[in-house]
Amino acid sequence: MSNDDIRDATRVVHAGHEPKDFHGFVNPPVVHASTVLYRDTDTLLGRGEQRYHYGRHGTPTSDALEDAITALEGAEGTVLAPSGLAAISLAMLSVLGSGDHLLITDSVYGPTRQFCETVLKRMGVETTFYDPRVGAGIAALIRDNTRLVWTESPGSLTFEVQDLPAIVAAAHARGALVGIDNTWATPLLFKPIAMGVDLSVMAATKYVVGHSDAMLGTVAAAPSAFKALKQTHRAMGICVGPDDVYLGLRGLRTMGVRLKQHEINGLTVAHWLERQSVVRRVLHPALPSHPDHVLWARDFSGASGLFSFVLQPQPMERVKAMLDGLKFFGLGFSWGGFESLAIPVRLAGIRSATRWEGEGSLIRLHVGLEDPQDLIADLDAGLRRFVRGI
Ligand SMILES: *Cc1c(COP(=O)(O)O)cnc(C)c1O
Repeated sequence: MSNDDIRDATRVVHAGHEPKDFHGFVNPPVVHASTVLYRDTDTLLGRGEQRYHYGRHGTPTSDALEDAITALEGAEGTVLAPSGLAAISLAMLSVLGSGDHLLITDSVYGPTRQFCETVLKRMGVETTFYDPRVGAGIAALIRDNTRLVWTESPGSLTFEVQDLPAIVAAAHARGALVGIDNTWATPLLFKPIAMGVDLSVMAATKYVVGHSDAMLGTVAAAPSAFKALKQTHRAMGICVGPDDVYLGLRGLRTMGVRLKQHEINGLTVAHWLERQSVVRRVLHPALPSHPDHVLWARDFSGASGLFSFVLQPQPMERVKAMLDGLKFFGLGFSWGGFESLAIPVRLAGIRSATRWEGEGSLIRLHVGLEDPQDLIADLDAGLRRFVRGI
């Protein structure tokens, strides 16, 4: 069956591993390896065929996950990285060099911004941050030496949706490549490579792993960028331990059903929050009230479980009273696991091209797989503490 003939829900279950290639076992082996022995000297010297050469260069375990992601992304190929941030820096280093100019959305994941402002700057790459809602207006920011336009949609913390087809058209017209951090949607809900994006990154730590128990990143590339990506990945010696790769593959198999439930639970909570008098705004692109809802509906086939909301302006003590007493929402970074999480968001220092209208405290929620009515009851009690201050 060709990759084109099957649907994504089937692909996440089956892609990447052929049980008959390994004694019929449903899952691939977790291959712990550095040395791979050769049959004879000729094979070692490259004069004979052998599929595997060295642990760092790939194993049946890493191949299984890479192949599954490649199928899902509709990519030329995929490489794995030890974290989402490592996947982002690897994608950028694959195509950027001294003297190049990089355009980055202002709502990019904070540590990505830091990577550009430190390592890339030291390497002689100049970064300009742009308004995530720039759309076709990106054309005016592209210079002769602009090598890469980096996107993230919806943006971290503030959830602006970007007009990817317009950005891709403008970038490609000037010979620039386009990369995306697609962690929020995963290729199940948004297909960057089909839209012309050259490098598609996921912090697989989030929904792919799905259980908050491993760090992992993936970079999938279109034919326009795969050779450079593969070469850079190899030259930098990046590889991931087999147990973590295996957790990624294991998580991937249930990602389709998990995402559907995150969407339902997230929207149930988001709709409820919209009706609360102390909530000013809910920043969830699947809500018709979201300023980019039309773009989201045009390009995405669903929503995941991560969004933010803005509370009425009140002293931070009130916000703490709300958050500290939550029973099911843990206070912690990362997201994408089975459990609900909440964080107070501080945008100071991580926005430079746009202004956040600071009308109240911003809270980011990851809505997990609990019963949404229990989550609503938890938040309801939290909002009462917010009003009372205790
Ligand atoms: C968490 C996150 C990352 C980084 O992933 P790690 O695996 O934690 O390094 C990158 N992008 C986005 C949008 C994220 O939320």
